[in-house]
Amino acid sequence: MSLYDQYGRTINYLRLSVTDRCNLRCRYCMPAAGVRKLEHDDILSYEQIHRVARAAVNLGVEKIRVTGGEPLVRLGITDFLAGLKQIPGLKRLVLTTNGILLEEMAQELKAAGVESLNISLDSLRNDRFRAITRGGKLERVLAGIDAAERAGFPYLKINMVVMGGVNDDEVADFAALTLDKPFKIRFIEYMPTLKGGGEQSSTVAGDVLLAKLSHTYALEKVEKQVLDGPAVYYRIKGAAGEIGFITPMSCHFCSECNRIRMTSRGIVKGCLFDNGVLDMRPLLAGGNDAALGEALRRVVRMKAGRHTLMTGTSDHAPFAMAQIGG
Ligand code: SAM
Ligand code: SF4
Repeated sequence: MSLYDQYGRTINYLRLSVTDRCNLRCRYCMPAAGVRKLEHDDILSYEQIHRVARAAVNLGVEKIRVTGGEPLVRLGITDFLAGLKQIPGLKRLVLTTNGILLEEMAQELKAAGVESLNISLDSLRNDRFRAITRGGKLERVLAGIDAAERAGFPYLKINMVVMGGVNDDEVADFAALTLDKPFKIRFIEYMPTLKGGGEQSSTVAGDVLLAKLSHTYALEKVEKQVLDGPAVYYRIKGAAGEIGFITPMSCHFCSECNRIRMTSRGIVKGCLFDNGVLDMRPLLAGGNDAALGEALRRVVRMKAGRHTLMTGTSDHAPFAMAQIGG
């Protein structure tokens, strides 16, 4: 079965946030004081999330990404992932993490059936990493990356949110990581979701980075794979890995958008910038899983054609990405 929206886009990708809690406080994702913690009863149980996931796969979703907050801080996450993996029809189960707990958990994530990991890493310099994450330890993430390699993940995607004047001078250093290792280093345009002072102007367009990197390296374009997502990939000639550009600001990929998302409270969104849209909790209180499928169809029908966030200006209400899952 396939799921289409009113613009003819196939919707086959569900992002599930399992918590809004996090062991970091990245300055572009959360306000300094953090976000109001949800009580245990406010977030969906694993069983409830699983029911929504099953309903989505029955409708045509093929890929699920588990995210947060930081998904690895939620107790029992590995068993939950192993359960998702058993859903008949699900082709790809993937996870996004900040890597802080990966050294301890990489093996069990692999054993649970997680196919690939996206690891967020915005600086290779200790002090800067600490400043961006408000206290995080870079060595924890690097140890997590090592552990994930040892656990046998075939390639790792490393996501760097590039911010002008903050870490954009490290782009070539990140690209160099692909020379010997099969990493996919992805440069993500910073999205000014928080609306704090100066944040609207920190975005660095992907084509600016590409031009800069082209001065340093000979780059060749890489063809997209099915279910690859919005990144456009290049390879430094002869390198083991790839570099990718994700450009939600300068070059909206909305026309190719194939995703819906559910927050840890059970709010389903067709677009990151939707306000609210649909609360699954009342439906989950009943035992009728057909109603879950119908609700997901409704969200897909209402999915916006494109988001309105632009560099320098936007009309969205500010929000912490950690509450939605990025
Ligand atoms: N805690 C996990 C992590 O950091 O990978 C998963 C959740 S995090 C909200 C998911 C992704 O959203 C991360 O790659 C993060 O860098 C990205 N993100 C958060 N805020 C962002 C922003 N304002 N602009 C662009 N990407 C952002
Ligand atoms: Fe936490 Fe990820 Fe947001 Fe950083 S980007 S604060 S690690 S949820």
